Amino acid sequence: EWEFAERVGRVEPSATIAIGNKASELEEQGVDVVDLSVGEPDFPTPERVREAGQEAIADGHTGYTPSSGIPELREAISMDLKGKGIPAGPENVVVTPGAKQALYETAQALVDEGDEVVLLDPAWVSYEAIIKLAGGDLTRVDLGQHDFELEPALDDLAAAISDETTMLIVNSPSNPTGAVFSDAALEGVRDLAVEHDVTVVADEIYDQITFDADPTSLASLDGMAERTVTVNGFSKAYSMTGWRLGYLAAPEPMIDQVSKIHSHSVTCAANFVQRAGVEALQSVETEVATMVEAFEKRRDLVVDLLADRGKVIPRPQGAFYAMIPTDEGPTDDVAWCDAAIEDAHVATVPGSAFNAPGYARISYAASEERLKEGFSRLAEEGLI
Ligand code: PLP
Repeated sequence: EWEFAERVGRVEPSATIAIGNKASELEEQGVDVVDLSVGEPDFPTPERVREAGQEAIADGHTGYTPSSGIPELREAISMDLKGKGIPAGPENVVVTPGAKQALYETAQALVDEGDEVVLLDPAWVSYEAIIKLAGGDLTRVDLGQHDFELEPALDDLAAAISDETTMLIVNSPSNPTGAVFSDAALEGVRDLAVEHDVTVVADEIYDQITFDADPTSLASLDGMAERTVTVNGFSKAYSMTGWRLGYLAAPEPMIDQVSKIHSHSVTCAANFVQRAGVEALQSVETEVATMVEAFEKRRDLVVDLLADRGKVIPRPQGAFYAMIPTDEGPTDDVAWCDAAIEDAHVATVPGSAFNAPGYARISYAASEERLKEGFSRLAEEGLI
């Protein structure tokens, strides 16, 4: 009989994986599934980045690198951060295998058993698991009744944050809502964080995928650089999900602690992947712009298709997700998503997975044609 550590009992397997499994099962039976559940761009990694990775392998860059990352990449990341107003040098950067690992190491470095961490709901699925694995307790602030915006919820946030709060996670642009928080909202976060001496984790992984918004980086605000861990990655902007490349940037005392966890767990991100990352930061602006343009058109299409069904949703300003109300058909969002996959053969993710029951998250990392097909199937089954 296996006896597992108590910590693994605190978390559930990812809801998105369960949906993915169901979709694959149907596809194996020959069913045409419209998959709107995926959290990855439907574009190839830009050619120059792929070439840089291949060249790096051919040139023999296949050994360990310095634990925190190769100097060229940390330098390029530092330049990028400075361009966003974040005063981070290469010494403030740890390169990780994906932003998820950066978040994991951040929680391991900062959160003790029983420490309080504040999340803004709807929140990306893994935050909860990452905090619980570190032993933290969650306090949640619901942005659902404020059209997923933070500014009108600042009073609720003020009520949730106290001197007992260890950490607050802010994800803008947001997965799953696509919301981009206003400067006034971020300044409100800053004031509360300073007042209560809270560390803020700014997950800005979607910051290049925005439409009518120009997101501000939290660490660029006065008083925030010294208390912010900025997390970002290459998966979304450069369509590099499988390469596993991300990073965190923070003041040196935090880097010193995180580096211990990093070096004793992953050692370093893959060598040739880091070299491809330098290329991504330096030379594929045009390809990124093309992807963002495609996402914007699809965002408009999704909003319009829903409006045609009498559903008005807050227009997402970034990332490639939208939350659609599950107020027709089955009684709750989990049953709704089951019906969507079983009857309409459309894969979506229940809002409950993001602590936002009453919605389903759709990803528009799918062609306009497939999006239209998906929505017409949902309408046919009486789900929208
Ligand atoms: N943060 C958010 C909000 C995400 O949506 C994701 C991916 O889905 C990640 C972090 C992790 O990305 P990766 O580990 O691929 O860099």
